[in-house]
Formats: sequence, structure tokens, C-alpha cells
Amino acid sequence: MTIYTGDQLMKVKIYDPYAEFEKIVLSNGLTIYFRYLPECPWTQVWFKVHSGAKDGEPGVAHFLEHLIGDNSKEGSESIRKFTESYGGYAKLGTTSYRDTRYGFMLPNNQLKKGLHIFGNMLVNLEITKFIERERNVISREYSMDYPSPISYLREQQVAEIMYQEHWLAKHISVLGSATDIETIQLPQLQSFYDQHYNPSNISVVISGGLSFTKTLEMIQKSPLGLSTKAGLRNPRLPVLSQTWLPTVNYLEYSNKIDYGMTTDESNNYYLNTKVVVPKTVLSGSLWDIAGGMIHKTLFTELRLKREWLYSIHISANLYGGLYSLFIRCPNLLEPASKKIIKVIDTCLSKALTSKRLFDDFKRKELNSIKMRDFVKTQDIIKGSIKDLDEEDRIETIMDYLAEYEAAKLADIQALIEHIAPEKRLSVLYKP
Ligand SMILES: [Zn+2]
Repeated sequence: MTIYTGDQLMKVKIYDPYAEFEKIVLSNGLTIYFRYLPECPWTQVWFKVHSGAKDGEPGVAHFLEHLIGDNSKEGSESIRKFTESYGGYAKLGTTSYRDTRYGFMLPNNQLKKGLHIFGNMLVNLEITKFIERERNVISREYSMDYPSPISYLREQQVAEIMYQEHWLAKHISVLGSATDIETIQLPQLQSFYDQHYNPSNISVVISGGLSFTKTLEMIQKSPLGLSTKAGLRNPRLPVLSQTWLPTVNYLEYSNKIDYGMTTDESNNYYLNTKVVVPKTVLSGSLWDIAGGMIHKTLFTELRLKREWLYSIHISANLYGGLYSLFIRCPNLLEPASKKIIKVIDTCLSKALTSKRLFDDFKRKELNSIKMRDFVKTQDIIKGSIKDLDEEDRIETIMDYLAEYEAAKLADIQALIEHIAPEKRLSVLYKP
């Protein structure tokens, strides 16, 4: 086996499907990213509306997404039947904080029809029906996330402590609150649609077997290409260069009241520690390295040395110019509950100053690029759509490689200040 160093890797030819996208913006503002797959018999098309749950009143974007398919001329069922009869698929909506996505896959000779159906759905729709039916469906969806009123209130309390003036404090869930779901009315939904569903606020990401010229011509002649509906592109989210202190650093909740946990979890202690980090000091690639260093250190200390737990979960979510970092320690042994926060503090400083760990995880990330398993075009499209959120461009493998290559231990050490104990909120769930 050859172990490449970063410098050597830069010289190796790397398969970089993200670098194959071409971009064009039509005169009506519609942005198209196209990747040609020669001789491929099908085309996959995803539409990203650059507005989501953070836009408008809580719950409206998601409620609207539920109504889009069934308010189209064809209706959701017949759209699904049409795509599936060819072995393809239709995705009639997913709402995140930042965007709402739709997509389909069809053989090349049905692309025109697919673009016609989805184009009309995304720019020419009048919402008239199924509002009460979907209200009931959404309230069922909500009850899966929040099995009891207290579980929502707890999340709200944590969000207010952590996010304060940021929109994340107001938008606890993409679904809105139970009251939002009960009270949203048709005019709000239509008005959100009119404001946000227009060509300039939509990007199309396409991969398929027809040439760019042919595909582009089909899009231009589709309702989405022909629409002159006015509107503005939702601006890129501002990058935060500083954050704020949480109003408290520690909370205790009882599992017995219920946090939607399994019985197994509710009989145990569970620690969740959160911190908000400005985007100016962290990037996805830096987190790949830092996250590995943190996990390794915590795992060694909490599981191997102290035997307090089985698994540790760490994650970093990018939300509108800031990263929200989580460390979750489920199913803790009781004695850990009193000491774990201090132990985590020590581990974090230790992790982020270790030259040895830094070298290990930087090398791991650099080498893992060579090991990427690009099988599904749909995953590449989804990865591209994700990049468009905050970067406004598709990040290539070479971009990542350059970022890993440039990462320095000093950048990682700079994180210590931002995840200091006074900047974190730790919540202990007790049985
Ligand atoms: Zn839903």
C-alpha cells in the first residue's frame, strides 16, 4: 500500500465529479448546474428553492412543501406513477432551514415532460386544496419529533440560551410549533409561494446523458425557463465572525418526564454539550480534522480509561454563518454524571493541542479523498446542492484537498477559545 503525503496527493490525478459541473444563469435568473454523463440513458434533475424554514413565519415553508405536489395539475400520485413506470423517481419535497428541494429521474426521452410538470409546479401554482388534510399529516409528523409538549419546550429553552438573537432561536423546528401548525392559513402559504418560488430563487442541478446544449434548450422551453415571474434570490447567509455567551452553562432535565427517549435511554444518564462557533474560525475541512481529534481523545478517556460509556457522538452543523457543535454522551454510568463536564473540558484542550493527533487526522483526511466511493449520481447532486447553501458554488474534491493541505495545528488550536466552558451549554438528562 502506498501512503501518500499531501504534497504527493496534489500531483495524483483524482476523480473529481464535482469539477465536471458547468454553470449558466438564464436571463430570468434561473441558475443551472449541469454535469454530462456520456451515453447515460437517464437524467436526474434536482431543484433547489433557495428559501426554507428560516424564511417567513415558522412552519410556513414546510407546510407549503406538503401541498406543492397535490396542488399541481397532475397530482402527486400520478407524478410518482409516471416516473416510477420508467424506473425513475419523483421527490416531491424536503424542507430544510435554508432550502426546499424537489427532484426526479427519468429516461432522457421523457426529460422534456418531467421538466414541464416540475416547472409548472415550481413557478405557476395556485394553492387551493388539501390544506386541512396536510395539517393533520404535519401534526402527526410533529408528534414523532416531539412526543410531548414538554419535549418541544425543552428544545426551545436550549435554543433561546444558545442562539439568542439569531434566527435559530425563533425557528426551533423546520415544522414550526404545534400552534403554528394549527394556525397557518391559505393566504400565508400562497404568499410564501409567490415570494419565494420564482426562477431567480431556484437553482437546477442536473446530471444526465443528453448534451448540455440539448438539456439547456429543454430547460429554456420549460415553464421554469419561460417564466418571467419576478423575484429576488434569497441572499447568501452572512458569515458570523463572533458569537455570544450562553445565558446559562448547565441544565438538568428528567428523562422520566420524557424526551422521546427509548426506555433504555430514559433509565440512564445522558449528557449533551453544545457550543456555537463562528464560521470565520471553522470550515468543513478543518472540522473533519478537529472532530477526529476530539472524538479520539474523548473515546480514549471516557470509554477506555474510565469505562463510563459505550459511544460518543460528535457533530458540527452549519447554520447561517455559524457552526453548532454537539458532543452527545448517551447511556452514562451514574458516577460520570457529576464529573463528566470537567473531564470533557480537559479532553478538549488536550485534543486540540496534540501535534500527533493533528498529523494523524490530517493524513487520514488527505488519504480518504483517494478512497471516496462515488457510485451514485444522486449523491453527487445532493452534495452539490448542499454546497450551494452557504458557499454559493459547488466545492470540488480539489478544493477540499487544498483546504486539508493548508490546515495548520494553529488553526485547530484557535478553536479552544471558542469552545471554552463558559461558551458551552451542557444538559444532563437524569433518570
Ligand atoms: Zn413534512
